[in-house]
This record gives sequence, C-alpha cells and structure tokens, in this order.
Amino acid sequence: MTGKTSFLDSVSRNFDKAADLSSLPKGLLAQIKACNSVYQMRFPVKIGNDYQVIEAYRVQHSHHRLPTKGGIRYSQKVNQDEVMALATLMTYKCAIVDVPFGGAKGGVKISPRAYTTAQLQKITRRYTAELIRKNFIGPGIDVPAPDYGTGAREMSWILDTYLTFKGGELDAAGCVTGKPVNLYGIRGRTEATGRGVYYALKETLSYADDMKELGLTTGMEGKTIAVQGLGNVGYYAASICQYEGGAKIVSVAEYEGAIYNEKGIDIDKLMKFRKKTGSILGFPGSKTMKSRKDVLTVKCDILIPAALEGQIHKGNAKSVKAKIVAEAANGPVTADAEEILLKKGVMILPDMYINAGGVTVSYFEWLKNLSHMRFGRLEKRFDHNTYMNLVGLVEEKTGKTIGAKEKDFLTRGADEIDLVRSGLEETMITAYQQIRLIKKRKKKVTDLRTAAFINALDKIASDYMTLGIFP
Ligand code: GLU
Repeated sequence: MTGKTSFLDSVSRNFDKAADLSSLPKGLLAQIKACNSVYQMRFPVKIGNDYQVIEAYRVQHSHHRLPTKGGIRYSQKVNQDEVMALATLMTYKCAIVDVPFGGAKGGVKISPRAYTTAQLQKITRRYTAELIRKNFIGPGIDVPAPDYGTGAREMSWILDTYLTFKGGELDAAGCVTGKPVNLYGIRGRTEATGRGVYYALKETLSYADDMKELGLTTGMEGKTIAVQGLGNVGYYAASICQYEGGAKIVSVAEYEGAIYNEKGIDIDKLMKFRKKTGSILGFPGSKTMKSRKDVLTVKCDILIPAALEGQIHKGNAKSVKAKIVAEAANGPVTADAEEILLKKGVMILPDMYINAGGVTVSYFEWLKNLSHMRFGRLEKRFDHNTYMNLVGLVEEKTGKTIGAKEKDFLTRGADEIDLVRSGLEETMITAYQQIRLIKKRKKKVTDLRTAAFINALDKIASDYMTLGIFP
C-alpha cells in the first residue's frame, strides 16, 4: 500500500474525526472504539505429505449487541490489524442499517488458489472446530458469513462442522449466513452487497441539490461507471447498475488488468468472455489500459472500488476523476486519500453504509433460520387471492377484461426473493436518508463518512445506555 497509512489507522482516524464532534462521554466513546475480543490461532493441517501451520483470526469488535456478525476472509494478506479493522467496520455497518448485531470478522492467512477443494474443506473445517472450541461461533454468539476469498461453499462446510458438534441445537442453522439456498440459505444473499450498492447509488443520485453541487444530473440513466474488481460484489453492482439502472460501465479492472470502452462494456458478455478465455483483456471493442490500477483514475461519473482496502491512497487520489466514489469494498480509500478527495469536492459513499447490503440480507437469513420458515410462505397465496378478487371486481364494474399477462403481474403474491429485495431497498434508502440528514443539519459535518459514524455512534451509545453499562 502506498502512502503507508495502515487500514486500522485509517479506521481509527475516521472514528476520531467523528468522535471529536460527538457530545457522548469520552469513556463511552473509548469503549465503543475498542476491539472487545481478538482470537489468534495457529493450527496444523496435513497438506500432501506434510503439515502446514495455518494462521487465522476471529475478532469480535463489539458485544453491545449479540450475536456478533461478520465475514471470513481467505487471503495471503490477512493479518491481525486487518481483521481488527474489518471487525470494527462491521459494528458501525450493522448500526447504520439497523441490523441488531455487534461487529466481528474472521481471517485465514491462505491463498485459496494454492489449495485443492478438498484441502480448502479441511482448512475450513479445522478453523470452525477452533471457533467452536473457544465458543466463538453460534447463532446467539458469533455468526460468520462470506467475505473476500470465501462463498456459499465454505459456509456449508462451516455449518456441517458446527452440526457435527452441536447436532441437537434447534437454531444451529443460524450459526453462519451466506449458505447455499438449498442448505438453509436465503434467496438474494449472493447478489445482496452489489444490489445494495445499486439501491444506495439510486437514492444518492435522486437528490437534485446534491447532484447540482457535484455537477451531475439526477438519476442513474446514462451515468458512466468504472468498477475495480468483478468478484461477487463488483459483478452484481456493475451488472444491476447497467441492466436495471441504465448506467454505462466504461472501465473494468480485474486481477489480469483493466479495460476501457467509452461506449460501454456489456458486463454479462464480459463475464462470459472471461470464463472462456480466462481474462477480461481483449474483450471486443475495449482498449487494454497500461496498468490495472488505471481503472481508478479513468474519466467517469462514479467509481466503484470493489476489491480490497487501501486502493486509493495519497499517491493516486489526486488523479481520481470520478465525482462519486462508492466504497463497495471495505476500506478502499485511505484516510490520507479521503482528505485529498474531499478537497477536490468528490462525494465518498462510505463502505460502512454502501456495502451494508450483504449483512442486511445475512440478517434476513438468520431470521429465516430462527423462524424455520421461508419468507412469503404464509402470505403469498392470501395476497394473490385478494388481488384476484380486486381485479375481478374492476372487471365486473368496468365491463372490461384485463389480459392474462397483466393479470399475472397485478395479482402475484410476494416470493422470498421479492421480500428480500424489498427489505434491502428499504434499508438502504432509510439509512441514506438518516446519514444525509446528519450531514445537512450538523454544520461541522462536511462528509458522509463522518455523518455515518455519528449515526452509528449515537445508536451504539443508546444500546450501551439501555444495557445500563453507561448512565
Ligand atoms: N463480509 C460481508 C461484509 O463485509 C458480509 C458480512 C455478513 O454478512 O455478516 O459486510
């Protein structure tokens, strides 16, 4: 990382900036800031003919609400500071979107590409066993989820290991989220973070006065977007902004490099191309950029960094041309870079708000697991019948018939996916309105990250006060 501000330093600096503007007691702020539990483990796993000692972590940042919640990252770059920073962000993220959990994060210091599926399964199961051993996992204790380098497959191994030890537990399925749909998962979890980014951007772009300040028109239609990272988050964010929002994706970067096309890049076609050729480079109509980092400084309205932390730093912040930076990744803009961007008048939609769609739908999944029932099961047919009666009445009173296709559209009862998307949209809109209002009302709050922090701090403080820990 250029600029040398560590991720944890950046998070800490951002916290202090908001805490300085808060009237909450100093001791309470110090308690909110501190990481409550840090579990560092090393365990042996037999890989081939030899043993490897695997370094791993689980950090629970805040116990003001339980369970704690946050993903598990598999990456060679994992270290204690990084996991602490990520767990910290989870606490504020949950508070901002009113998900009643404390923040946590896990990390396993491995490069998943270096292992076979069987070896990854072995590592995941052993990691889970370590968590169980120390009481660091459970539906009411700490609930992991996917993050960089993990997905539904790893979550199913975690659940299965948990069930092996805690088979009779009624709510055991709620010990982890982001599971496959056929294994206690929920529809819409995979797309959730990316879709949340879309809803958040749509809401942001709807305020005429804010857009005027940035020199942009309202609405997503026709906006140019550059995306760094086509993983789960970046892919869905780009694809939904393009196909549902009418945005134009002008630049995309992945592991192998970056491409540009001012006329727009069709994301689904690009994904198919990459699957076939193993690379995004050479995609018809696009130009290959010199460096994959060039995606960050391309001319566009909205930049979506959806890869890792520390991507926009002191060294390249000056060259960012986007008017809006949407932090789909956690911590992509360092605190130094933020100062530069804000001076340039760039609007930063902070990670702890804009990528909170994942944990929001994780919360829905957890609720589904505790209720042991799919959302929509009770009301779908009732709603459908009510709408059918209504449509029938309209036909009867007007003497006209409504076509079969329209009738289907008008009378459909909500399925699980409809309810999940609706809940996610509502969550992202409400959270943005709260943050925006804080920025508008408090003179000293001049950026959305500080506003988001203040929003989170007030909510967490009130939880602590309810608990009676602070008067
Ligand atoms: N890893 C995701 C995040 O950073 C999701 C966490 C979760 O669903 O618990 O927000």
